[in-house]
Amino acid sequence: MAMALFSPTFSFRISTSAPQRRRRRCFVQSSQATVAIEAPSSSTTDLLLQVKDLSAVIAESKQTILKGVNLTVRHGEVHAVMGKNGSGKSTFAKVLAGHPDYEVTGGSIMYKGLDLLEMEPEERAIAGLFMSFQSPVEIPGVSNIDFLNMAYNARRRKLGLPELGPIEFYGYVAPKLELVNMKTDFLNRNVNEGFSGGEKKRNEILQLAVLGAEFAILDEIDSGLDVDALQDVAKAVNGVLTSKNSVLMITHYLRLLEFIKPTYIHIMENGRIVKTGDISIAETLEREGYKAIS
Ligand code: ADP
Ligand code: MG
Repeated sequence: MAMALFSPTFSFRISTSAPQRRRRRCFVQSSQATVAIEAPSSSTTDLLLQVKDLSAVIAESKQTILKGVNLTVRHGEVHAVMGKNGSGKSTFAKVLAGHPDYEVTGGSIMYKGLDLLEMEPEERAIAGLFMSFQSPVEIPGVSNIDFLNMAYNARRRKLGLPELGPIEFYGYVAPKLELVNMKTDFLNRNVNEGFSGGEKKRNEILQLAVLGAEFAILDEIDSGLDVDALQDVAKAVNGVLTSKNSVLMITHYLRLLEFIKPTYIHIMENGRIVKTGDISIAETLEREGYKAIS
């Protein structure tokens, strides 16, 4: 059951059951060494993520899903990924987060100057990578505020910062509720239990705001939402966006992109990004479907 709950955010809860087959290579933890690796050349200072020729298979069946994905994300950019069902969008997102269901078979991913593929999922989360899932899990018996406090403290601990107690943490989280348009009583409810679709998605954005992630991957945050809920979620995302953090959002709908303006739109097809452009791609898609693009 534990692994069904895979999420970098949850990993501090489930790390004991993390599969051993994941390679643990040389993730550099000494701050000195990290600085040495992170020192970027002047032309790449604004690079956040660089994916080159990424290929990946399903770990169990060895079926190839990603067949050479290329993507560059800079600080402050919003990237949208669109594409038919089954084209590999969620797989790409999960590979970025380090999901154990997939094995990378080729290519590279640099994140903040580090080799992302050498990092465990929780190390990725600590490095500011956040992923929101298509279907956020419910955690019965754990209140939202306790969960957020634990996740936040786990990141602080790993960063060598002092943890926040419940009262201090409340002071930290309360102003963020406004960003995502949630009432205080939301914090005392169990994580996602009985939340509406829109509330679950806004709760994910609250987690993102609390963790202060620099790179957020949002997989179909618009799925199953009515127009009002969609607007609320989009407002929440816009509320936490700054010129520093970047977003990769997977969506099927132009309407989300009208609220959260993407810097680039990519079309994924059969495990590759086959086209990149601006909002006009999404408009063509909406009018004429994928046949107009592929
Ligand atoms: P998208 O998000 O674009 O709809 P996915 O990345 O979810 O596509 O899936 C791409 C293909 O890989 C689909 O055919 C899907 O069934 C398959 N797939 C992805 N993950 C798994 C898995 N863990 N086990 C079996 N098949 C999978
Ligand atoms: Mg998907």
